[in-house]
Amino acid sequence: MDTLVAKVPNPKTVRNSWVEDSAGVLTDTASIDQMINAEEANSGVEIAVVTLPTIGSYVPKDFAVALFNHWKIGKKGKDNGILILHVIDQRRIEIETGYGMEGDLPDVTVKRIIDTYTIPSFKEDNFQKGHADTVSAIITKLNHPELAVEDLVSNTTGTDYAADASAYPSNNDTPNESKRTDEYDYQGKSYSQLTDDEKRILEETVERYNTTSNYFLNDEESRLLNEKFTELEKIEKEESLRNKKYFIFGYLALFVFLNLFQRVVVWFTPSPTAKYHIVHKTDFILFYGIVISPVIIAITLLSLVLDDALFPVSIFLIIGSIIIFFIFWGDLRMRKLMERLQSIRNIPRKCKKCGTTMTKLSEEADNKHLSEGQVSEEIVNSIDYDVWVCPSCHSNAILKFPNINPEYIHKGTSFPKIKSCPECKFETFVCRSSRILSEATYSSSGKVEVKRTCAHCKHSATEYETIPKKQKSSSGGSSGGGGGGGESSG
Ligand SMILES: [Zn+2]
Ligand SMILES: [Zn+2]
Ligand SMILES: [Zn+2]
Repeated sequence: MDTLVAKVPNPKTVRNSWVEDSAGVLTDTASIDQMINAEEANSGVEIAVVTLPTIGSYVPKDFAVALFNHWKIGKKGKDNGILILHVIDQRRIEIETGYGMEGDLPDVTVKRIIDTYTIPSFKEDNFQKGHADTVSAIITKLNHPELAVEDLVSNTTGTDYAADASAYPSNNDTPNESKRTDEYDYQGKSYSQLTDDEKRILEETVERYNTTSNYFLNDEESRLLNEKFTELEKIEKEESLRNKKYFIFGYLALFVFLNLFQRVVVWFTPSPTAKYHIVHKTDFILFYGIVISPVIIAITLLSLVLDDALFPVSIFLIIGSIIIFFIFWGDLRMRKLMERLQSIRNIPRKCKKCGTTMTKLSEEADNKHLSEGQVSEEIVNSIDYDVWVCPSCHSNAILKFPNINPEYIHKGTSFPKIKSCPECKFETFVCRSSRILSEATYSSSGKVEVKRTCAHCKHSATEYETIPKKQKSSSGGSSGGGGGGGESSG
């Protein structure tokens, strides 16, 4: 509510006036201003008149108190301010007085002034007369406390405004319709206590009050309508909370399921080499999926807990949690994956010829069974080879395990750090340097130069990768996908 209160233009600072007619229902604010100025010069009392088309579902009384405090109406130390708030769509008038006024203008008097001068004119849609008479009555009461409420505004002023009223465009000439004969007694129940029939009666009353211009809700109906709005808002909030919970649980369940599914598939795959390939190919995707899930959960949880106003705080917390996640948890996860792949490689193999369990040679000992190219692949860390030897028939098996290859990502284009050499075909064609030749724009694609040298046969080449055109809706080139094919030259 505070943000809505702050949005009401303060007429005092905007144009040195006491009247803010945001709803545009007054035809002559100057005459009201004149009365208030005279009274302020005389006694120092400050009176603000505010008309607003709507304050949403807020209760006018609460809104009036908030606006009164926000503007600090009244002289410092005297607390002698008065706020007249008129909310058009709820058809409510609230008069809020400072503590310094309660002796001269007790709540009972204020209520009687509203009943005598405000409501009758409002019922005829003559808001100008209603507001002018209300201000006039309050000022007269302050200066002549001995006068009865009925005598505060003289008849002559009344006729003056009546003449005004005939010029008022939406003035209704058939006042008979304004008489309400169908007021239902809700016996002070709260909205949730109403029976279905009573709710229907309230519904119909509100329906009529929306379509008939000179029709007013009484205090009880207005209170019930406010309670109904509040209840609807509560239900809406609960619903969105439930949806967010489903989303979080759905997201978690999906990734728990995918991880379990991967483990089941790996469990039932007989060949250790095939196990290795499944984990090697899928774990990276699952890993990134799980990286993203805590971020999404954090955003959702924070939006549940924090108000819209605290959004910058939640953004800060989310970014912080992403950084912490990548530093600690992402690294840990990567190490766990490496350990898992290593343990799959260590599963004992049986000899294909005689069925005896073979033994794995150490990294140093296995090199004499490998070709020079294979050793080069192990050195650049693109592929690892394990050599298993059978103790009974002395045959051996060379097993090939591709490593996890981090990719260079250059503004939308991605190219592997190591690829297979076009000359010797080993996975030893290593990127030595790369530089951007032209940046991608919205109208044309860019180019990046990649220099590669083979760690085995020393063949070297310069390749050109295409950087795709920038997209209008670009959210940062995080996953470029396919870079264009490279040309190769000496
Ligand atoms: Zn080796
Ligand atoms: Zn054997
Ligand atoms: Zn080569």
